[in-house]
Amino acid sequence: MQTLRGIPVSAGFVIGKVFVIEDEARLRVKKRDIDPANVPAELERYDFARMASISELNDLHQTAADEMGKEAAKIFLFHIGVLNDPSILTPIKKMIEDEMVNAEYAISSTFDTISKKFANHPDSTFQSKVDDLRDLASRQLRNLETNQKISIANLDEGTVIVARDLTPSQTAGFDRTKVAAFVTALGGPTSHTAIVAGALNLPAVVGVRNLLSQASDGQRIIVDGEKGRIILDPDEETIDQYHQAQLRARQVSLSLHEYAELPAITADGVHITLLGNIEFAQEIDQVINDGGTGIGLYRTEFLFLTRKTEPTEEDHYQAYSECVKQLKGKPLTIRTIDLGADKYTQEQEENPERNPYLGLRSIRYCLAHQDIFRTQLRAILRASAHGPIKVMFPLITNIAEFRTGKYFIREEMEELDEQGVAYDKDIEIGMMVEVPAAALMAGSFAREVDFFSIGTNDLVQYTLAVDRTNERVASLYTPIHPAVLKLIRDVARAGRRNDIPVSCCGQSAADPAFAALLLGLGVRTISATSSSLPMLKKTIRGLTVSRCERIAKKAISFDSEAEAGSYVQSRLRKLVPEVFDGRPVG
Ligand code: PEP
Ligand code: MG
Repeated sequence: MQTLRGIPVSAGFVIGKVFVIEDEARLRVKKRDIDPANVPAELERYDFARMASISELNDLHQTAADEMGKEAAKIFLFHIGVLNDPSILTPIKKMIEDEMVNAEYAISSTFDTISKKFANHPDSTFQSKVDDLRDLASRQLRNLETNQKISIANLDEGTVIVARDLTPSQTAGFDRTKVAAFVTALGGPTSHTAIVAGALNLPAVVGVRNLLSQASDGQRIIVDGEKGRIILDPDEETIDQYHQAQLRARQVSLSLHEYAELPAITADGVHITLLGNIEFAQEIDQVINDGGTGIGLYRTEFLFLTRKTEPTEEDHYQAYSECVKQLKGKPLTIRTIDLGADKYTQEQEENPERNPYLGLRSIRYCLAHQDIFRTQLRAILRASAHGPIKVMFPLITNIAEFRTGKYFIREEMEELDEQGVAYDKDIEIGMMVEVPAAALMAGSFAREVDFFSIGTNDLVQYTLAVDRTNERVASLYTPIHPAVLKLIRDVARAGRRNDIPVSCCGQSAADPAFAALLLGLGVRTISATSSSLPMLKKTIRGLTVSRCERIAKKAISFDSEAEAGSYVQSRLRKLVPEVFDGRPVG
């Protein structure tokens, strides 16, 4: 039995079996020891990759022969010959059998050795073949990945996905009936993998050191999404303890459910609006069930991340109309696509950015890809004919970005008018406050926007200069830092003075203690993952706004986040012990 620690990002307990997702970089370089019993399976993987590569090369040979003639196509026959050559197959197979290593390592090291021999050969004919050999090694490695994709499609129930890192699209793409939890070696508390795991209601732990050297396929694992730890090969006693913990968690969730039905009113009678964050239309049902009165953040970039091709206007329109239909008159806040940073399909980008969090992301990306942006805006406007929709732009940093976005909306409206297409002429247009520049200038922005939505995930990252996805600096990622609280206070103040609503939709809003601070700082709308809504309601109903204001005022006055955190924790523990006992703050 072995316990590894990481960062808890999505609560819950799972007892399941490990499935390791290999990433390409690791496939290429990492040597992995194979259990003697798994050697035949590893040989089969190698054969699968080799035969799949030969079949691809046969196709290429045929196409090249048709298009360029038999002579030019000969190169592919050479490639096929290499893959069938016993002087190459034999050492690869022997290496898997004798050294009991993974097929990736056996292929790449054997091809490496041969490539070096070719490169050092005095005859230039050999030297000229070095690139072909490297290409052949890559082709087989790619096919080993395909082989892995096939096994991903056939996962067993209760599978725990273990990976170095997962892209949002990978996380969203797993079969939810089979995958029970995620564990990654990289990532921080608000990385998008964490967000998607929360949306899918699956426990997740990220930033687990030594994960990949310790976990292997088929191993028994316990994922503790509360404490942020995993246990490999747990003994029977530990399994039993976690079975009990699962039962208790189920009971707590059932007892919290009664709050879903009750209004979100503080003990001194202030109405708070509680909304849900979603990435997919299918989550709406759960938001409503958990007591949400609408959607405060729809992360529409997931329409891009979950498919290979760019969504059409119709794809957008269908998705938004579906949300409106399910919401039955409750409001839907659509955030225009927030691609970039860790929500790139980086491989789509021919030139990956050196520093993508400070790069062409969010509204900047949209303004640089106007066709994509306008397609989305038209679809949003068309869907607004069917129910209450608001639209907001992510990562606004200067007023010109907001004005340009709004100008595009006006232009699309004019076109729709000309075509006689219906839409909501009074659609509200707001912005996310996610960078300190926007928070500091909130007074100016407030004169032009219809609403603010504070995105603490990014606001914390940019205020404290801490990459939200980097597990090495995760302990520095502290939403309760007085600098962050001051920025939130200023945004709420600007909203009040200009009579525009201010909401908060970052992950920290799901934390009851942070939510209490938000109320104290003047925020009256909270949007969070659906599973957190019942607990938030319980917290709101147990507190008064005046008390929250006093706590927030004091928290903001501390010099450090540590002092602010322990003060808030001790106050809230006294006020609502049933919520805060044993719960860390910030
Ligand atoms: C945020 O930054 O707080 C936010 C809600 O946006 P995202 O997490 O999608 O970047
Ligand atoms: Mg953000």
